[in-house]
Amino acid sequence: MKKPVIAIDGYSSTGKSSISKVIADKLGLIHLDTGALYRGVTWFALQNCTNESGSIDLAKLFSSLEQIDLEFKNNKGELILFLNHIDISKQIRTNEVSDNVSLVAKQKEVRDFLLQSQRNLAEKGGIIMDGRDIGTVVLPNAEFKFFLTASIDERTKRRYLELLSLGIEADEQQVKHNLIERDKIDSEREIAPLRQADDAIVIDNTNLTKRETIDAILSHIQTI
Ligand code: C5P
Repeated sequence: MKKPVIAIDGYSSTGKSSISKVIADKLGLIHLDTGALYRGVTWFALQNCTNESGSIDLAKLFSSLEQIDLEFKNNKGELILFLNHIDISKQIRTNEVSDNVSLVAKQKEVRDFLLQSQRNLAEKGGIIMDGRDIGTVVLPNAEFKFFLTASIDERTKRRYLELLSLGIEADEQQVKHNLIERDKIDSEREIAPLRQADDAIVIDNTNLTKRETIDAILSHIQTI
């Protein structure tokens, strides 16, 4: 039986990636966290393409895109992101990256740069990909599409606790502000905005545990 292609989109901190990882393990699929790719490009830009004031110089970034080699490596079931052979899995979760990633991700040059490799990975099937535009743009023919949402306060709480667990200093109000800001830029951008695909199943997991969200998704996949 051919393994399915599953698209999971939704707002920041709705648990897309951690949920996708569990489903991938259970169904024997590859999991691709596409947000990590945009974060990887942003980390590269912050290291290599800034102006005197320290902000990202987009023109410099566009002309340097070909120097970016992003690769996931499997370490005991955990996918670790490498940028030009250096582990950047911790760096991509920093506040500095979160504050800049949506500006980088709204650029056509950056999206074009990452699009084909995402599609290539899904060609053979057997993949669950999570992001913002997977069901609408990257994999419009995915067999299963889900769109996750939750209240801003619940998402803030989850993200805040995630940062603390990673040992990253965080302020709850700043976390909330960053989520609102990113959702706004992601939803309002011209190219591949964050939006629910017409044929996606919407799951509001404000009052659901991670386990319950996973079960809700699996119940749709397994009844077909
Ligand atoms: O999923 P995560 O919150 O790590 O994504 C970080 C950012 O990457 C998002 O806020 C968005 O700007 C961008 N992104 C995107 N398209 C995707 C995945 C992520 O624009 N498919």
